[in-house]
Amino acid sequence: MEHTFRDDLIFVGGHWQKGRGAPITSHFAAEGRVNITLSGASTEDVELAIARARAAQPAWGALKPHDRATVLYRISEGIAANIDRIAWVQSRDTSKTLTETRALATSAAGTFRYFAAVAETSDDLLTVPRGDYTTASIHEPLGLVAAITPWNSPIASDAQKVAPALAAGNAVLLKPASWSPLVSLELARIAEEAGLPQGLLSVLPGSGREVGNALVEHHDIAKVSFTGGTATGRRLAHAAAEKLMPVSLELGGKSPTIVFEDCDTDLAIAGILFGIFSSSGQSCIAGSRLFVQRSIYKAFVARLVEATRALVVGHPFDAETQVSSLVHPEHREAVERYVALAREEGGTILCGGTRPEAAALQEGSYFTPTIIAGLDNTARTCREEIFGPVLVVMPFEDEADVIAQGNDNDYGLACGIWSTDHRRCRRIAGAIRAGTVWINTYKQFSISTPFGGDGESGIGREKGRSGLRAYQRQKSIYEDMSGRPHPWARWP
Ligand code: NAP
Repeated sequence: MEHTFRDDLIFVGGHWQKGRGAPITSHFAAEGRVNITLSGASTEDVELAIARARAAQPAWGALKPHDRATVLYRISEGIAANIDRIAWVQSRDTSKTLTETRALATSAAGTFRYFAAVAETSDDLLTVPRGDYTTASIHEPLGLVAAITPWNSPIASDAQKVAPALAAGNAVLLKPASWSPLVSLELARIAEEAGLPQGLLSVLPGSGREVGNALVEHHDIAKVSFTGGTATGRRLAHAAAEKLMPVSLELGGKSPTIVFEDCDTDLAIAGILFGIFSSSGQSCIAGSRLFVQRSIYKAFVARLVEATRALVVGHPFDAETQVSSLVHPEHREAVERYVALAREEGGTILCGGTRPEAAALQEGSYFTPTIIAGLDNTARTCREEIFGPVLVVMPFEDEADVIAQGNDNDYGLACGIWSTDHRRCRRIAGAIRAGTVWINTYKQFSISTPFGGDGESGIGREKGRSGLRAYQRQKSIYEDMSGRPHPWARWP
């Protein structure tokens, strides 16, 4: 697959121009080299993008939903027609495997198609009146929305925000993560070619502290939709509180996976491997805390270790690769610090815990899939998000014990349950604090199913039909039907 990087231009309110801010460098961490250095956006570029968005949004917001939907359908088709290129750019930007980035691009096309359909099929409400009037609840766009996304699955995170926000009639100012600026600019090209009116979308690569902060604090931004780490999310929530601005936060996780003695072992092992080691563990919903019932703990963990050792660590463009390079050398160092901490805390490394030895991988930021045992749920290794291919395993006694341990964590994003007792699965699904629970499967997604976290994993839900409403405000309208003056006035 032969593709090349484009010019050093960013997308400011429908215009391609050189950013006036600090340079942003995209790395191909799998090979330890630079892809391209972009001139990032400056705060002046943010101001210009906002001015262009303010000028363009009212006409877009006034369009009938089916007319907006037409443009979104074309964006969906544009993404679908460019899957190869998007996958290549995203794999170069994030070192994810091509298999995965193709799937992410396909899902982004589906997200635009879905929200186009939601926009043209969402009804306003006539509510039940309590007098001689009609009452209605209608939905209007918020205006200008800032979308701030992380580096781990940019095309999918971008689509999850840009599609519903545009469908709802808003203009969107998208700030991608500094480590993965390129694929969001591809999305801008496609939106432009699809005929999205100028000004409605900006893509502003730049540092979170400067460009992200300028967006969040700007008076004209009516909402921030954020996906990223909990510490950043908390800072954004403070800034949003100052402005009394709605904010939706999709944050981190330390999700429990629970294996009962009656599980289908092969099914469980395959699901656990996929849940923690796909995307090299750089996934908010990674099943990173594994609880195995004590009666099968030893045998199950031995088989899991064997299966983990058989995973193929390799180059993202190699179709055989299951575990690719981490996104950036600095991120690998952060993961390595956690493995060192696990050792200090008394953990035993059952497999992995090192950089791979293969000569071909020495220039990249690879890390071998790692399983750690011997810690309890209170250890920092078991409480904090590592965001790498690192799994901690712990035994549990019974349902009550595993619910208590599973819930004993500040995050509440996801949970996996492996058991053939379906009633028990549903009981635990009800008792565990998590935005999403997978039963005898893991890391499956549908755009029609809401997604989000509880506790330190965030506020709000994306996806699903209600995902559109997150980008609208409700207005209530009362209209008199009587034609009679109000009796209180005694007039005329
Ligand atoms: P991050 O450091 O929080 O950054 C996320 C985004 O916020 C980036 O675009 C970043 O810009 C920007 N940012 C940083 N500081 C900011 C500030 N003061 N004001 C405004 N924007 C700011 O997270 P990350 O390391 O990119 O991503 C990994 C995290 O995302 C993990 O914790 C993961 O669990 C979470 N995540 C959650 C979900 C979910 O749906 N729940 C999905 C994917 C990832 P810079 O890149 O320039 O710093």
